[in-house]
Amino acid sequence: MEQTLVIIKPDGVVRGLIGQILARFERVGLKVVAAKMTQVEKELAEKHYPADRDELWEGIGKKTLENYKELGMDPVKEMGTEDPREIGFKHIRKWLHEYISEGPVFAFVLEGPHAIELVRQMTGHTLPVKAAPGTIRGDFSFDSAAIANAKKRPIRNLIHASGNEEEAKHEVSLWFTDKEITSYMRAEEAAMLG
Ligand code: GDP
Ligand code: MG
Repeated sequence: MEQTLVIIKPDGVVRGLIGQILARFERVGLKVVAAKMTQVEKELAEKHYPADRDELWEGIGKKTLENYKELGMDPVKEMGTEDPREIGFKHIRKWLHEYISEGPVFAFVLEGPHAIELVRQMTGHTLPVKAAPGTIRGDFSFDSAAIANAKKRPIRNLIHASGNEEEAKHEVSLWFTDKEITSYMRAEEAAMLG
C-alpha cells in the first residue's frame, strides 16, 4: 500500500472540478484518507516547491528553454539568462508559488496499491497537449507551454500529484499531520484485493 498527495490547483477549484476529479480516483478504488480545502500561505508554497530541488528546477528550465527556441523567442531577452537552472529556480519557481496560492486548493491523500504511479497515470502528462484523452489533464485542460511561457506563468494543468515515492512521503507529511490521516476499510476492498 502506498499513499500519495493530490492537490486540485486553484484553476480546478474555480472551474468546479473537485467532485469530478475526486470521483475518478474513488471509482478505481483509491481510498481518500485525508482531505482539506485550504488557502496556501507563502511558507507552505515554498516548502511544496522547495529551493533545494535542483533537478526539478533544471528540468523545468530546460523544457522552457526548448520552448522559447521553438517559438523563436530569445530567452535572454525574456528571462535575462539562458541558463536552465536559473530560469527554473529564479523564474518558474516564483510563478509556481503564485499559482498555488492564487486561490483555495483542495488537497487530499489517496491510499492504495501502487497509488503513486496509478495517480500519475490518471493525472496525465504535464503538458495538456501531450496528456492522453481519459486522463484528468487530457480531458479537462488545453493550456499550452508556449502561451504559459510567453505570459510568464506556469502551465495551468489543474492538478498536482506526487511524482515518486520520495516526493509522496515528503508531501503527505508536509500537507497533513499524522492525526489528520485516517484509516478505514473501503466496502469493496475485500472484493478487489481478496
Ligand atoms: P508535474 O509533476 O506533471 O506537475 O510537472 P513538474 O513537476 O515537472 O512541474 C510542476 C509544474 O510546473 C507543472 O505542473 C506546470 O504547472 C509547471 N510547468 C512545468 N513545466 C513547465 C514549463 O515548461 N513551462 C511553464 N510555464 N510551466 C511549467
Ligand atoms: Mg511534479
